[in-house]
Amino acid sequence: NASLDRALGLVREVPDFPEPGVLFRDLSPVLADADAFRAVTDALVAALPPGIDTVVAIEARGFLFGAAMAVTAGLGLVAVRKPGKLPAVADRVTYALEYGTATLELPADTLAPGARVVVVDDVLATGGTVEATAGLVARAGAHTDAVAVVIELAGLNGRSRLPGGAPVTALLTV
Ligand code: IMP
Repeated sequence: NASLDRALGLVREVPDFPEPGVLFRDLSPVLADADAFRAVTDALVAALPPGIDTVVAIEARGFLFGAAMAVTAGLGLVAVRKPGKLPAVADRVTYALEYGTATLELPADTLAPGARVVVVDDVLATGGTVEATAGLVARAGAHTDAVAVVIELAGLNGRSRLPGGAPVTALLTV
């Protein structure tokens, strides 16, 4: 798919961000290009398994791709947020980062028990963020049937931490 290849070619590689030794993949140029944003969104939607009814998108860049997918595919959107942003919280999870911890919160009255979910983020690295989000989904009585990311950093083996059986779609594996 030439438009998707072109879109993924716009990903910018930034050495030593956010700290020395890290090669950061910056999707800003993809979002800024109308055809590229469309091609990426369509490819993520095309890979969804049947039966999905809800996009669970992770703050912050997961919101961008998740919202575009939800509108394109006609799905509801649940925005999992960093702490302190939501006025009404159904559940929260704290998970380990390389240095320290992070917390994510599920908004109240959003995710119905039995919902069939795709968890969306921009980049899958160690998998901790998606794993924590899938934990919130499971505790709500919903099911993570799919994980969708634009980029997977394969060397970190994030896939191995994800809930058993949920297919992972990554448009670009590096
Ligand atoms: P993980 O929890 O280690 O899988 O890290 C994933 C989180 O870190 C995601 O929410 C990403 O947005 C962010 N992240 C990690 N590496 C990159 C990168 O190279 N570019 C953009 N985001 C990144």
